[in-house]
Amino acid sequence: MRTQEHRTIYLNEYRVPVFLVDHVALRFELFEDGTRVHSTMKLRRNPDSESSDTKLELDGDSLTLETISLNGQTLANGDYDDKGGKLIVHEVSDEFSLTIVTWIEPQNNTRLEGLYKSSGMFCTQCEAEGFRCITFFPDRPDVMARFSTRIEADKARYPILLSNGNDVERGDLDDGRHFVTWEDPFPKPSYLFALVAGDLVEKKDSFTTMSGREIDLRMYVEPRNSEKCDHALDSLKRSMRWDEDVYGREYDLDIFMIVAVDDFNMGAMENKGLNIFNSSCVLASSDTATDAAYQRIEAIVAHEYFHNWSGNRVTCRDWFQLSLKEGFTVFRDSQFSSDMGSATVKRIEDATLLRTAQFAEDAGPMAHPVRPASYMEITNFYTLTIYEKGCEVVGMIHTLLGPELFRKGSDLYFERHDGQAVTTDDFVKAMEDASGRDLSQFRLWYEQAGTPVISVKDEFDVERKIYRLNIRQQVPDTPGQRNKKPQHIPFAVGILNSQGEDQPLKLDPAENDAPTERVLELTEAEHTFEFHDIEARPVPSLLRNFSAPVRVRYSWTREQLIFLMNYDSDGFNRWDAGQRLAIDVVQSLVGQPSETPVEPRLVTAYGHLLTDSGLDQAMVAKMLQLPSEAYLLELNDAADVQGICEARTRVLNHLALSLREELVACYHRNSESGPYQPTPEAMTRRTLRNSALGWLLQINDEEGRVLALKQFREAGNMTDQSAALRALVNSDFEEDRARVLAEFYQQWQHDPLVVEQWFAVQASSPKAGSLEAVNALLEHPAFDWKNPNKIRAVVGVFAGQNLINFHARDASGYDFLARHIIRLDDSNPQIAARLVAPLTRWRQYAETYRNGMKAALESVRDKSSLSPDVYEVVYKSLAD
Ligand SMILES: [Zn+2]
Repeated sequence: MRTQEHRTIYLNEYRVPVFLVDHVALRFELFEDGTRVHSTMKLRRNPDSESSDTKLELDGDSLTLETISLNGQTLANGDYDDKGGKLIVHEVSDEFSLTIVTWIEPQNNTRLEGLYKSSGMFCTQCEAEGFRCITFFPDRPDVMARFSTRIEADKARYPILLSNGNDVERGDLDDGRHFVTWEDPFPKPSYLFALVAGDLVEKKDSFTTMSGREIDLRMYVEPRNSEKCDHALDSLKRSMRWDEDVYGREYDLDIFMIVAVDDFNMGAMENKGLNIFNSSCVLASSDTATDAAYQRIEAIVAHEYFHNWSGNRVTCRDWFQLSLKEGFTVFRDSQFSSDMGSATVKRIEDATLLRTAQFAEDAGPMAHPVRPASYMEITNFYTLTIYEKGCEVVGMIHTLLGPELFRKGSDLYFERHDGQAVTTDDFVKAMEDASGRDLSQFRLWYEQAGTPVISVKDEFDVERKIYRLNIRQQVPDTPGQRNKKPQHIPFAVGILNSQGEDQPLKLDPAENDAPTERVLELTEAEHTFEFHDIEARPVPSLLRNFSAPVRVRYSWTREQLIFLMNYDSDGFNRWDAGQRLAIDVVQSLVGQPSETPVEPRLVTAYGHLLTDSGLDQAMVAKMLQLPSEAYLLELNDAADVQGICEARTRVLNHLALSLREELVACYHRNSESGPYQPTPEAMTRRTLRNSALGWLLQINDEEGRVLALKQFREAGNMTDQSAALRALVNSDFEEDRARVLAEFYQQWQHDPLVVEQWFAVQASSPKAGSLEAVNALLEHPAFDWKNPNKIRAVVGVFAGQNLINFHARDASGYDFLARHIIRLDDSNPQIAARLVAPLTRWRQYAETYRNGMKAALESVRDKSSLSPDVYEVVYKSLAD
């Protein structure tokens, strides 16, 4: 067991490692009742360390030590201590070799950290601190060693034996066993180590790099999934080409392998040369995966591949620097997705996630800077702030420098730090050195938590023809941080005249050829910008393309929002104006009597979107989506959950009833024939058609019901089939709901990934997902408490998406979640800690909800021997 002391680790306590590991030779003997791990390390004193300590400290967790020998001499009990997660060898010299043999039990490892078994195969997850569950090692990212790995196992059960690097030797052993030895020529931190052993089929492909090298691409899956590999392999080849074209980065080993695993805590892991994926993030075929899954897979395959440079070749010095690799790599994968599809749509999706979930995190008890200063359990810091806000921070550097200087900066960063473990500061320094720009104030983005609030006021001076923008910024207090300094914020603006045309932005009256869009650099608490030669009061277009992760306050009128929806040349802001209008309308209806009229101009605006075929249909598909319940809640202080959900439903019903004919026409106009294509155009058609269907079923339309049943039974792909399922499940047609749910399960029960969708459709439904129904799902034979995907699909989806039932007034939803967090705390603390998130912002809700949420958190806190993972989140959530 891990120790139950709850210790906080601080960035300012960082010290370089006293000893370095040059080489480690591992030998794994895999058996059914356990695994014996032999490790021989070559260590030497770190010349950069000031310590003259002669004792060696290694990390270890849940290990049984069998033998230990120093320079070939077996050590006696008194020569070392093995306690409290550390192995201490009392006396070592400046250079020595250490051999350690440990026994572990992967078959009983339910935490899914280190080496464990999933569906009969062995696999690993070592980031962040899983390697210490395999053997004793200085398990920190700034110790980079060359690894050689020999795996021995029963040949019939485990014909495939994989690790990092290139396979250099293989052969047969006695008793039907065999072995393979892998050598990784690149020094790497232990968190990038991987091992896989199983009965897997191999799908092969190849890629020729920019210098003409031929790379073997291999994907390993269970035999039943052998037809689901093409999309991932195609995505991989596109990613490899893109990274060469855009960043000049070439792949370095001769082989690149991808493995799909069913039981996995995360989405995927970038182990050197051997990426391991949660099967839901890599396997796809048109009849079992939705468009959303296709897009997610392409993005995640790219993300993990891009880590080969931003993460593996240049890695993090310590875990406080996690955003060094994640923020930059998310930025790279979002650039890639923009290039593969619509840049505006991608920007809308990224901003939606950020504003809904990251802003909430940044305003809650777990708020932390992109580079945190302390943590108790590092696995709790794989957060939206580290990933998504970290990506925005890199994106702002890109905006400030422009694409060419940014590329110069990334080239310098890779060249300067190849093979090193570095900090976010080293990254910013490379950008500064390459561009000549001073980013010292910009660095506050890494140090200060909280979402800056930008308040904008404007005035028009008719006589002098000057339009003035007064812009103030304020960074809110967050736990442990008060009175923050102004940050360096790139704030992109345009201004529109009454015809909807962009006006030249003359900051200087003498300026000729002024641009119609400018990135204003905010560095002070308050600025006033004057734009000259403006003929009449214009409408401002603020924070174009969401140029910074900030909240903007400006008192838009509904007329202005409709005007921007129609005319803004910035696609992001056109969408955002529609969102702001819908938010304003929904909020104005909260707590109002049901006969209060819904803003008629909203209906007109949506009608226009549905009928004007000249509009970019991908944008229309986005604009038709009302702001989510979760986002509406995030925008409120004492949030009245039931009131907000009801008001949103009223607006949705009103729009659907008023635009019924247009919706039916939109459905038919976007009906497609022919084989499934995962192209952006085809996806847009399906999105529009299925949105129309969802709206029709929302008002229990009889024609919609017939269309949905037909689509459900005749769909040629999972996108259409599951959309019809979802629409029916969310309608009041109870008999149809029960029938399609049964038919869908009958049809797909052999496919765990589709069954996960079946669980999620029910758990998220306000109609089908009552607490009683969700409890029944947990008793279903396909549900499995050991499988994180199933837990997320039922418990996670219910608490995160089915807001009306989760926030039931009798607090039953909160009790449900607390009970299951407690249950999971012993078996898989990482997953348990993630499930706490919906309760953490209890202070932000109206009193009815607040007390129930707090009581649920307290019941978790009171469990005996709580894991550090759950303890940290619960403790911080309840702290004053
Ligand atoms: Zn990553």
